[in-house]
Amino acid sequence: MIKRDVVIIGAGSTGLAIAYYLSKQGVKDVTVLEKGYVGSGSTGRCGTGIRAQFADEPTIKMMKRSEENWNKLGEEIGFDFRQTGYLYLLYTEEEIEQYRKMKKLQNSLGVPTEILSPAEAEELCNLIDTSEVKAASYNPEDGKAHPFEVTTGFKKYFQEGEVELKEQTEVNGIKLENGEKWKIVKTTGGNYRTKVLVNAAGGWARNIGEMMGLDIPVTPYRHQAIITEPFKPGRVEPMIISMRHEDAYLTQTERGGIIGGIGTPEDEPPTYEMRETLSFEERVSKAFSSIVPSLKHTRILRHWAGYYAMSPDGNPMLGEYKIPDHYLAVGFSGHGYMMAPIVGEGLARLIVDRKTELPFDYYDPGRIDKGELRESALQMG
Ligand SMILES: Cc1cc2nc3c(=O)[nH]c(=O)nc-3n(C[C@H](O)[C@H](O)[C@H](O)COP(=O)(O)OP(=O)(O)OC[C@H]3O[C@@H](n4cnc5c(N)ncnc54)[C@H](O)[C@@H]3O)c2cc1C
Repeated sequence: MIKRDVVIIGAGSTGLAIAYYLSKQGVKDVTVLEKGYVGSGSTGRCGTGIRAQFADEPTIKMMKRSEENWNKLGEEIGFDFRQTGYLYLLYTEEEIEQYRKMKKLQNSLGVPTEILSPAEAEELCNLIDTSEVKAASYNPEDGKAHPFEVTTGFKKYFQEGEVELKEQTEVNGIKLENGEKWKIVKTTGGNYRTKVLVNAAGGWARNIGEMMGLDIPVTPYRHQAIITEPFKPGRVEPMIISMRHEDAYLTQTERGGIIGGIGTPEDEPPTYEMRETLSFEERVSKAFSSIVPSLKHTRILRHWAGYYAMSPDGNPMLGEYKIPDHYLAVGFSGHGYMMAPIVGEGLARLIVDRKTELPFDYYDPGRIDKGELRESALQMG
């Protein structure tokens, strides 16, 4: 039996960030268990985007701080957080009204979002078809980071420090002992005994709960994304969003490919299926080339699928849950990657000090059982 102070299940952006901030707060005995490799869940399949343009106060506050942490983390573990902005294209008066309200709230919380004219949007990217665009919402501090650089950055950092990262190690059973004080975590690589257990298993969170007789209401929904061959006509630096074109989001990587996706049809049932669909390629091609017409002649290089892990209200479930020292960091829908640095810092603080100044009450997992569902955070893709 291997004894540890903290065991984290899942080496996606969430589990890795929690381990990192625990080690920063002086916790020495931390193990992260991962059934595949770092980032093999949704993290390595995400669209790279990081934004503070949300509609509700807690998520804006979290993301403002998360963007600060992305910068510090990038410097410390070695990746680029490229603050090239998020540009929401607005086509109707209703959208403009909605984004003006959001801008006001975001500005009041220190996020410098501006509403731009179509001509100003074109200055940021002259390849967009602005013929029907009426305005755009832009925050220059939003941006993107390559998930493989981030996960390998964490991995290297852990190799030089005290966090133990066990890849190819699947958790297949959990037993509670001594009045739930000890959690015995059974894995394909031996058994661990820990007091503090963190479920950061993304779309598989419910399976981990079942091992303890808990029903964790997180459901996986397939989402797909693509990257194109290098796009030659110019640069698409900001993340361009268009709700009018199937909630499309797209941006350009440093190597030149256009990465992004569109929304999953609402009637697609939950699934663990990770196969891609041809109909997605048809829909994404149409949406992207309507937004940036010169993309019409660019080929798709790679296409993949991953999960949005959905809680009943589409907001994360963060905090202690039903068993002492058993924590959840799950249910991130389409914005778990961007939240990871602040979720990591906040959850580590909660584990060590049993409190955080961050608005974790809003994300308390107990809200679901109490029927206190929150408004869904602004989703796209
Ligand atoms: C196509 C697509 C685009 C997206 N775009 C964005 C975006 O632009 N920005 C953004 O913020 N978010 C985006 N998301 C969402 C984002 O990817 C997720 O919210 C985020 O990666 C969740 O990270 P995580 O660490 O919580 O989960 P995951 O990355 O899924 O990690 C969970 C890990 O747990 C491991 N695990 C599960 N069960 C076990 C077990 N029994 N034993 C051991 N290990 C186990 C899994 O192997 C996995 O590696 C996107 C998602 C998709 C699919």
